[in-house]
Amino acid sequence: MDNGEHKAVTNFREYLRIKSVHPNPDYEGCIEWIKRQATEIGLEFNIVEFPKPAEFAVWLTWPAKTPTLSSILLNSHIDVVPVDETKWTRDPFAAEKDSDGNIYARGTQDMKSVGVQYLEAIRNLKAKGFVPLRTIHVLFVPDEEVGGSKGMAPFVKSPEFAKLNVGFALDEGITSPVDEIILTYAERAICQVKFTAKGTTGHSLILHENTAGEKIQKVINRLMEFRAQEKARLESDPNLLLGDVTTVNLTMLGGGMQINICPTELSASFDIRLTPKWKKEELLRFLDEICEEAGPEVTYNYVFQSLDYTGVTTLDDSNKWWSTFKSTCEDIGVKLKPIIMPGATDIRYVRQQGIPAFGFSPINNTPVLLHANDEFLNESVFLRGIEIYEMIIWNLANIPGYNLFQFPKLF
Ligand SMILES: [Zn+2]
Repeated sequence: MDNGEHKAVTNFREYLRIKSVHPNPDYEGCIEWIKRQATEIGLEFNIVEFPKPAEFAVWLTWPAKTPTLSSILLNSHIDVVPVDETKWTRDPFAAEKDSDGNIYARGTQDMKSVGVQYLEAIRNLKAKGFVPLRTIHVLFVPDEEVGGSKGMAPFVKSPEFAKLNVGFALDEGITSPVDEIILTYAERAICQVKFTAKGTTGHSLILHENTAGEKIQKVINRLMEFRAQEKARLESDPNLLLGDVTTVNLTMLGGGMQINICPTELSASFDIRLTPKWKKEELLRFLDEICEEAGPEVTYNYVFQSLDYTGVTTLDDSNKWWSTFKSTCEDIGVKLKPIIMPGATDIRYVRQQGIPAFGFSPINNTPVLLHANDEFLNESVFLRGIEIYEMIIWNLANIPGYNLFQFPKLF
């Protein structure tokens, strides 16, 4: 405690004040702060810079008693999304704390809290004399909020990542407004597609054959029917959440030259989020069918897609990471709600490497203000999160080596 404030909270507020906000994030400031944490806590500081400028990853290592066992990776992204200062009631980078202990700043929930909690938990474990059986790496990556292409995506493919010998990873989850804490074990894949229909052009007072308008209408109708089916499925089953269904939204329309000319081309763009309960191939077949049914010269191209990132971490007792995580939470009275993450985070790159991973932010009983105005986190929730990580890290880092025959996937 310093001036009545817990040192971990002071440290958190300091990290929040570093403006790692897009489009010009202060990554230098973050790296300096991380370097200082390494020195203070006594962890090895590592950085790798990829050939292109501003691509890097930073990680702090706590070496194990048994360096041959696979390691545990604790990831957080250091960047935050932009703010509309006119809509905030406080300075989003001052990390003000009100009399109830609510700390207001961009990144309090997404996800600077988690980055600090990992470190504070390790600081406490070290003070208690704990030495992990498995090496722990606390990873800090840039640019998650803009797709991860300058941070996690190149990092998982680097020789430095391979050398970490990661057996299990944790990354961000989602804020929970109730007591249960959300745990994500898979993510929906992104499929953003633009359909283009070409057709007969000419004066629009004639009823031409094969117009772009008729064809793009068929595309839209088909996808909207599918949207309605998935919406009905979600609404009719209270056990289903957004991550369990595939969502479709028509987000852009384009084409046309003048109101009295039938256009040579019209386009419709859709943001589709594919549940991992569906196979990528099924979706691709569906998109091809839509084009065929709509008529000749109807095609689609990807604006962005992450369809190869559909790894699912199993939640059964054959997965020791899960059974240990679950029993630890039970022991300390943490109620877990496992879900499929409806959005995309950097953990997809890790899962794609075949590494089991969970998304978990110990933020409960808190309004969901990820990417929202007046994002805040209460200091007591933040401090409780440190205790939770202490127990989780303690137990995960103590999982011994297993018989390779029994657990071939994990070790
Ligand atoms: Zn995030």
